[in-house]
Amino acid sequence: DAWPQGFGLPFDQLQQVLLNTPSAAKAREWSEYYTAGPHLAGKNFSQALWTLEKWKEFGVEDTTLATYDIYLNYPQDHRLALLKKSGKDTEVTFEATLEEDVLEEDPTSSLPERVPVFHGYSASGNVTAQYVYANFGSYKDFEDLVNANVTLEGKIAIVKYGGIFRGLKVKRAQELGMVGVVIYSDPQEDGEITEENGYEAYPDGPARNPSAIQRGSTQFLSIMPGDPTTPGYPSKPGCERQDPHGSIPSIPSLPISYKEVLPFLKALNGHGPKASDFNKYWQGGGLGYKGVEYNIGPSPEDVVINLDNQQEYVTTPLWNVIGVVKGHIADEVIVLGNHRDAWIAGGAGDPNSGSAALNEVIRSFGEAMKAGWKPLRTIVFASWDGEEYGLLGSTEWVEEYLPWLSKANVAYLNVDVAAAGTDFGPRAAPLLNKVIYDVTGLVQSPNQTVPGQTVRDVWNGKIATMGSGSDFTAFQDFAGIASLDFGFGRGANDPVYHYHSNYDSFAWMEKFGDKNWEYHIATTKLWALAAAQLIETPVISFNATDYALGLGSYLSRAKPSADQLHDGQHFDFSGLDLSIIEFLEAAKTFDAWTADLNTKLGEDIPWYHWWKKVRLLFQVRIANNKYKGIERAFLYQPGLDGRDWFKHVVFAPGIWTGYSGATYPGLVESLEAGDVENAKKWSKIIQERVGAATKLIS
Ligand code: GLU
Ligand code: CA
Ligand code: ZN
Ligand code: ZN
Repeated sequence: DAWPQGFGLPFDQLQQVLLNTPSAAKAREWSEYYTAGPHLAGKNFSQALWTLEKWKEFGVEDTTLATYDIYLNYPQDHRLALLKKSGKDTEVTFEATLEEDVLEEDPTSSLPERVPVFHGYSASGNVTAQYVYANFGSYKDFEDLVNANVTLEGKIAIVKYGGIFRGLKVKRAQELGMVGVVIYSDPQEDGEITEENGYEAYPDGPARNPSAIQRGSTQFLSIMPGDPTTPGYPSKPGCERQDPHGSIPSIPSLPISYKEVLPFLKALNGHGPKASDFNKYWQGGGLGYKGVEYNIGPSPEDVVINLDNQQEYVTTPLWNVIGVVKGHIADEVIVLGNHRDAWIAGGAGDPNSGSAALNEVIRSFGEAMKAGWKPLRTIVFASWDGEEYGLLGSTEWVEEYLPWLSKANVAYLNVDVAAAGTDFGPRAAPLLNKVIYDVTGLVQSPNQTVPGQTVRDVWNGKIATMGSGSDFTAFQDFAGIASLDFGFGRGANDPVYHYHSNYDSFAWMEKFGDKNWEYHIATTKLWALAAAQLIETPVISFNATDYALGLGSYLSRAKPSADQLHDGQHFDFSGLDLSIIEFLEAAKTFDAWTADLNTKLGEDIPWYHWWKKVRLLFQVRIANNKYKGIERAFLYQPGLDGRDWFKHVVFAPGIWTGYSGATYPGLVESLEAGDVENAKKWSKIIQERVGAATKLIS
């Protein structure tokens, strides 16, 4: 008999089932269900139960809830007003509604139970102060203001969304003694598709609706995701709790639309330097045509903002839905996950395009099981709660099952936004690059200039490194599990995606985002095929050489950070270079050996050579244990400097970017800080980890 691949169903037939089952009509149906009303973290129990029932119906009997008690905030009250003081009197110049327009064409924008706009984990506070415009609020932006002697202490910052994760804007403002932050959506971030360029705004056209507001978390996600009161361990009922303030803000913040930020920005006209003549790296923004001159301020002493943000903090249950299909090999596990919670009633792009895709993936595997298929490896499906606040459900789950995952988990495949445009954008651990290249070649692109084009044909071929901002973070950076994340995001000429706004709705999706639900289906197929390849291929479908090549190119990128060292100091990279070359050599040999095993598995071995077969299966088992262990070898248990939850020495979220990934974070951050001794320490740690990976596969 054959190698136990495709028990009950040959692999190519399994692939056919996974390509033929997903249906646009079903994806639309799931999307309509998830986006019909509010489903904020901890307030989506009915959707958790519905999801559980659906997965059972699809054939995943072993589906349960994994519940955690998590510390988080819900909005109570808020105010943002522009005030003019004269003597003892204060006049209200502008009172922001902080509301998005109710649109007849978009039913969920008018739900009475809609959630007020707020920031996840923002601090309660009522402050009245002068204010400054601080561009994106990046570390460098604030540094530029400090160097230009703009007083920040005691002031409120107005910053644009974009560039970096919003919580890090608040973090830096807080560190500089600022008392509040207002974050708005500048149409500059929308590229060509703006009202200024003549495009009509949603719902009439593809441009941003001027009243759209981006909610979102202000947790300091590059310090630590998950429940901020339980670093490194699961938030089980009654567990010990720590002070959360190392990873959440202590100053208040509010989000606002571009329509309503106008009076605040205009009141800065003529006060302080202009962004444009201030520093060549500064841009103003996209509201010049509305009369904003983008002065930095500060606002005059008698022109102040009142920012009042009242949040209720509670410790409350959150519900992950976990479905398990046992494979023949119990200790080789592939996990697929998407989050279910959204800031708004809709969430048609984020996250429920991914939730619709996940349901179709599971339904497709269910069809394969009905046709007799039994997986070689174990599959775990996860619908996470609380991603939006800070990757809560996934992080607590990984923290709870760490011993098992460390032993058994081969890969984690995340989809957050499956469809919000036409641009395929993957990020992945290099071990998984090969899987992405393979499966993109098997799925037709919904957008074809030449008939028959696959996703790979129209994709730019780039795979980003793992930063953060979605549920892969605990898998990749805390547990050392090779992870990937993909979906179709907004391309430059696509309609503006109203991220974290009321208009990320079913109505928007059907009219602008994915009219035919075909990008939902393309993601479904890519996801299912990637999973199938990892579940079924006898030798795990990893490529160690890609990892070694990645390590080399990340090091070339790190080297220039040593050029800025002061006083003729220099940094010696030769030890690292050498360790990576050794890993590369070992990886090439190892990949060649596993490819050979694969070939031999395909050959007919006569029964009287049964011992050859036994030896072959034994070798495959050894090879797979090694592949499974490579990512783990890069964990350093004491963790990164100042953020010890992060254990991976190669990948972490950028400390001041959050979303985009840093590579060799310990080393590069030390060099950037001019701390050569610490850089040497990290060089040694990284060499040890690369050495451990080399030893593992040699
Ligand atoms: N996807 C969420 C966001 O970008 C993640 C929040 C977080 O990582 O804390 O807002
Ligand atoms: Ca925890
Ligand atoms: Zn999301
Ligand atoms: Zn989100």
